[in-house]
Amino acid sequence: MRTVYLNGAYLPEDQANISVFDRGFMFADSIYEVTAVLDGKLVDYQRHRGRLRRSLAALGLPFGLDDAQLLQVHRDLIQRNQLGEGLVYLQVSRGAADRNFLFPAAGTPPTVVLYTQAKAIIDSPLAQRGLVLISLPDLRWGRSDIKTTQLLYACMAKEQARAQGADDAWLVRDGCVTEGSSNNAFIVTANGSVVTRPLSTALLPGTTRDALLALVQAEGLRLEERAFTVEEALAASEAFISSSSSFIYPVVRLDGQPIGHGTPGPLAQRLRALYIEHAYASLG
Ligand code: PLP
Repeated sequence: MRTVYLNGAYLPEDQANISVFDRGFMFADSIYEVTAVLDGKLVDYQRHRGRLRRSLAALGLPFGLDDAQLLQVHRDLIQRNQLGEGLVYLQVSRGAADRNFLFPAAGTPPTVVLYTQAKAIIDSPLAQRGLVLISLPDLRWGRSDIKTTQLLYACMAKEQARAQGADDAWLVRDGCVTEGSSNNAFIVTANGSVVTRPLSTALLPGTTRDALLALVQAEGLRLEERAFTVEEALAASEAFISSSSSFIYPVVRLDGQPIGHGTPGPLAQRLRALYIEHAYASLG
């Protein structure tokens, strides 16, 4: 049984309970982070901490832990659960209060939860096989740049992908791909440019995306931060996704058609290898 962190206490997972009046439960009034763990250490922790602070500020969520305390909780949890490879999940909600759309009085304590999840990230069958995707309209709210737990549409998109025999979905707004249901989206054009949508309120600023773009530039590859259509993706020589829980996965099919040769592309595989190197170098 796992040990989870809840509001200052380390508890067996079956004893970690939160209120039915929690605003995370009632209104999705909460934010989260997912940080990868390799060799019992955190991958790219500064980037996650930076995005966490950004999400908290965007929603005006209170949060009592300072940077040193938060890092210590992550490390304690990894140690207590003997986690070698996997993820640390963190969620902060605006706490429990009588149901009211208006935010509760200042001083209402937030609910802070962290737990670990074991996962083989490096040795991943999907990295070998590549993802099969469908495209779906992006029907999420207008602040997809904030990492909130308002994830119902992402769940529906993944379910719809599964119903069609696919692994996941790329979401399309105004004719262009915004991102995947839980990852950032990239294509490689015939002339070798890596293309990904620029940051805006329409997509999450992925920590993996951020690190990867630095690697792309350090490798001297051409990078174009611009929107692209599904048609352009279908004509691309490669496609891939990035996220903390998968690192980089090649995309081999979209809407029933192969991308490139319909097998994991060489650049996607090289970038995955480079990102893995970066991840090990970033451990803390
Ligand atoms: N986009 C969405 C919608 C996500 O949910 C995620 C991760 O969960 C990402 C992108 C990738 O972000 P990161 O690389 O920080 O995991």
